Amino acid sequence: MSTSPINEVKPDKSELIEVVDLYQKREKVYTRAFKGVYRNLRIIGGAFLFILYFGTVWIPWGDRQAILFDLPARQFHIFSVTFWPQDMILLSSLLIICAFGLFFITVLAGRIWCGYTCPQSVFTWVFMWAEKITEGDRNKRMKLDKAEMGISKFRRKFLKHTLWLMISLATGITFVGYFTPINTLVIDLVSGAANSWAYFWVGFFTLATYGNAGWLREQVCIYMCPYARFQSVMFDENTLIVSYDPNRGETRGPRKRDSDYKTKGLGDCIDCQMCVQVCPTGIDIRDGLQYECIGCAACIDACDNIMEKMNYPKGLIRYTTENSLAGKATKILRPSLLGYLSALLIISGFFSYTLLTRVPVTLEISRDRNTLYNETSRGTIENVYMLKIGNMDQHDHPFKVTVSGIPGIKLSEETKVIVPTGEVKMVPVRLELSPDKITSRNMTFSFKIVSQDSEHLAATQESRFIAPTDPVRLK
Ligand code: SF4
Ligand code: SF4
Repeated sequence: MSTSPINEVKPDKSELIEVVDLYQKREKVYTRAFKGVYRNLRIIGGAFLFILYFGTVWIPWGDRQAILFDLPARQFHIFSVTFWPQDMILLSSLLIICAFGLFFITVLAGRIWCGYTCPQSVFTWVFMWAEKITEGDRNKRMKLDKAEMGISKFRRKFLKHTLWLMISLATGITFVGYFTPINTLVIDLVSGAANSWAYFWVGFFTLATYGNAGWLREQVCIYMCPYARFQSVMFDENTLIVSYDPNRGETRGPRKRDSDYKTKGLGDCIDCQMCVQVCPTGIDIRDGLQYECIGCAACIDACDNIMEKMNYPKGLIRYTTENSLAGKATKILRPSLLGYLSALLIISGFFSYTLLTRVPVTLEISRDRNTLYNETSRGTIENVYMLKIGNMDQHDHPFKVTVSGIPGIKLSEETKVIVPTGEVKMVPVRLELSPDKITSRNMTFSFKIVSQDSEHLAATQESRFIAPTDPVRLK
């Protein structure tokens, strides 16, 4: 009989450590096609965004396209408005408005932006449509992926990827077209005359669209999107979320259409899995609120269809709030929402006011650095200045220069200058003042420029007139 000195020690159950594999292989999501109110809303919203995205670079506006971000000239043309580097505050305000708008809508209605208007979602839905028309609906696609490669499978896959690449190419060209005139870009790309950067960026954005909407899809929303990382901190019990009503749905289970399921202890959920099969992120909304849910309401449409077929009331999955699900009252107006709304209104007000009162003309003054003043042959005191006149309007304008602020001050000669649109002109001017009008060594006055064909295009700038210390000696 062998007696081993070593005893087998079994750890206490509470000491067992669960090993979790941090890398999980992606399971492909096969979404099922569905119909419903929210799907229609998404199609309308997506179509509007598509028309906006593809349309605004092609719509002619004056002698250019409606939207053009001309980086070399440092000008952003958005319909009739041109933003210059001086307008950075306006562009920054616009970005802040977008950010606060997103925060506001998130506190109010959760990830509604993700489900309906986020470009990643919109392009993914379009790619899913391309997938459906080339490979068929969910079951066909699953079968196709399991099947051996043959002519039919190759043809379907080839068609799908060709369609995806065509949509991606159109997206890539359009995106680059926001930064360089699209008419010439397309001609140059086709004729081979475009520079290598144009080919690089079109290729880059084509592959980015193809990769994101075709291959990565929900992975972008779940792992890469920064908004997905922080949006949950803006949620509270009064935020509108897509939710399954467990009070009504549980206990789940299959049953016959007209059976008296309540006597068997069943709830309204027939456990058909439709809500799971339509979900673009592949989750089961019945497990509760999950960060992967992009609030797209596809599961609401799918479940409402089932409820209709079963003759049950719709809304087993619906837009609701945690408070409402718990039978408590939902409070819409709450401090965080009002805070974001106030910030949004204040910044929007500032932006609108600045935009409406903005005059697209700039005037900068610099004095001649070599001489403080000259004494002319007429006995007057003369100062020399350089005016820098910028015309940020859409048309050329003739400007007239005037001075005011010191009695008797005048331009040595009448000064008119035509400044072409988008240009800055340097204009030298001389001012004269009779010695008897000089009251101090350093006098303040104003230059004014006014467009001769549009009086509201005017700008005023203060400057200084330097005179001798003892002007009386000049009399
Ligand atoms: S679609 Fe509705 S009924 Fe079907 S499993 Fe989902 S929640 Fe239940
Ligand atoms: S759970 Fe519903 S709302 Fe959320 S992503 Fe899936 S389908 Fe969309």
